[in-house]
Amino acid sequence: MNIKEVKELLTTPKNIVITAHKNPDGDAIGSSLALHHYLLSLGHQSTVIMPNEYPDFLKWIPGEEHIVKFSLDTPLAQSKIKEADLIFTLDFNLLSRSGEMENDLKSSNAVFLMIDHHQQPDDYAKFMFSDTTMSSTCQMIYHFIEKLDHLDMISAEIATCIYVGIMTDTGSFRFRSTTSTTHRVVADLIDKGADNTKIHENIYDTNTISRLQLKGVALNNLRVLPEYQVAYISLSQKELDQNKFKKGDTEGFVNFGLSIDGIKFAAIFIENKKDGIIKISLRSKGDFSVNEFSRDHFEGGGHHNAAGGKSNLSLSDTVDKFISILPSYKNVLNQ
Ligand code: 5GP
Ligand code: MN
Repeated sequence: MNIKEVKELLTTPKNIVITAHKNPDGDAIGSSLALHHYLLSLGHQSTVIMPNEYPDFLKWIPGEEHIVKFSLDTPLAQSKIKEADLIFTLDFNLLSRSGEMENDLKSSNAVFLMIDHHQQPDDYAKFMFSDTTMSSTCQMIYHFIEKLDHLDMISAEIATCIYVGIMTDTGSFRFRSTTSTTHRVVADLIDKGADNTKIHENIYDTNTISRLQLKGVALNNLRVLPEYQVAYISLSQKELDQNKFKKGDTEGFVNFGLSIDGIKFAAIFIENKKDGIIKISLRSKGDFSVNEFSRDHFEGGGHHNAAGGKSNLSLSDTVDKFISILPSYKNVLNQ
């Protein structure tokens, strides 16, 4: 990204749209809102548009109440996209990840700016800040503001938004992508007013009894394939319904498998009858690339150690397909 040109672009007031990937997570919402507050304080018009709904535990992040959801408010979202001079796409790098917004984004004449930390970016954006070594898009927003010499403009609100995404994308500062720089950024965010204890509580202490019971079902369904160092969980639509499933309830479940001693590759398969798909989350430790595994077999992608994908087969056929692929990875997994 040519930061001088971006700085130049931002010297006059612009109509800006900020958007992130479908099924937005803490990093998607946190980075979008952090950038939104920053651009507003520079004197721009800014609208955050998310492709669809997101979990309740994200519905307190400063500015969240102004987010336009494309799937719920399509005409408004479409007119905002049409009017935009600049469109920031955050926490994704393939326009198809924006779900139903894809065609509106494609037909826009706006200048596109991508800020993202996923692998293998498409080249739809004039300005690309893509760095797969980054813990999170939120950390990149911090560095983006830093490059523009505006660290002093990071308010408590902005610091809070950025903290959320770093925390959620690093599994609370434990994944490999968490560097000493990440910790220095986080320390600065606390100095700037992010209330770290409160943020952890707002995101993680939001269980309901039915979510805990769904967790019980997931743990009961956990299977281990020791010969491949693999663990997986499946959840049927029926099991979700019986436990009053709400969006976000299965967040983090895929990590149960990975917490077993010796397991290097974990998966969860979640039936979604409405969309007619099985949603898949994949996690690994070490050298095994779930990004490539997902691209090759499940129409997905993501990061080296965390990726997602989908399947149009039934739940049990999807699990069978997964198990049938494993022998060709036996050597890599047992390395
Ligand atoms: P999760 O398993 O938490 O949904 O996603 C893990 C990572 O993979 C996230 O960074 C997410 O953006 C990415 N991801 C999830 N699903 C998909 C998908 O269907 N396609 C691609 N390209 N990336 C995905
Ligand atoms: Mn992210």
